[in-house]
Amino acid sequence: MNGGRDARSRRWLITGGSRGIGHAIAVRAVAGGDRVCIVARSIEVHEVAARLGRDVKGLVADVSDAAATRAAVAEAALAFGGLDVIVNNAGLHRGGRIETVELDDWDATLATNLTGAFHVIRAALAHLADGSSIVNVGAVVGYRGFPGDSCYGASKAGLAGLTQILAAELAPRGIRVNLVIPGFVVTEMTAAVSKRARDRIISTIPLGRMGTTEEIAEVCWWVAQSSYMTGSVIATDGGLMGRL
Ligand code: NAP
Repeated sequence: MNGGRDARSRRWLITGGSRGIGHAIAVRAVAGGDRVCIVARSIEVHEVAARLGRDVKGLVADVSDAAATRAAVAEAALAFGGLDVIVNNAGLHRGGRIETVELDDWDATLATNLTGAFHVIRAALAHLADGSSIVNVGAVVGYRGFPGDSCYGASKAGLAGLTQILAAELAPRGIRVNLVIPGFVVTEMTAAVSKRARDRIISTIPLGRMGTTEEIAEVCWWVAQSSYMTGSVIATDGGLMGRL
């Protein structure tokens, strides 16, 4: 039983696939002939999935909730007869300097950006075919110091660590685990950044502009299919990290 799939098509589960970078990754995977399940907290994920195509499934789940995540992953695996690619993209950003940051913001950021990926991977392991691929979506601040970004930076640094550990742990099954690091990308998450702050950040990007969601999605697409890459960090940031 293979869920009726074409033998060459892969079965993706993309968290945070309802908008932004995750949505662009889903668009890319569908264009490549693959089957996709997108997960988000908001009910609109169903409509988004329907617009993406017949083979796209939308599931409502909060990745910070272990039981809800397990149920969503099981439902996706049942629908597709297994899974081949997991993209841990769901993320949120909360800012604030260490003196003022609220504990709730710290907890919420870690719960989604780091523990969420942990829940998804644990839930998916039994359903992943040998030779599968896990793509985690990191951030430049997980590697470089930005004042005021302690929650977000710590969560993404944790995700970088998890990527390295799991690349080694899951290698015996041929499961590859990599970290794609988007730079400063046009999405709802960055829409809240003031024009002044935006211009300041853009002035530090060697390529001199923000990235598009499609540019990040293209990289996630080829990372997912590369056969000899694991534990790698793939910055897709217009040169930002190299400059910091
Ligand atoms: P976005 O436009 O805000 O989209 C976030 C997505 O994640 C939405 O689909 C959202 O849907 C979902 N989501 C958030 N919390 C969730 C949770 N607890 N459980 C399930 N789904 C959840 O963000 P984006 O800019 O595309 O960012 C995507 C990823 O790229 C994030 O991990 C972010 O940290 C990373 N990133 C972004 C940038 C950038 O410049 N945009 C740069 C570096 C890294 P619901 O709200 O309906 O749950």
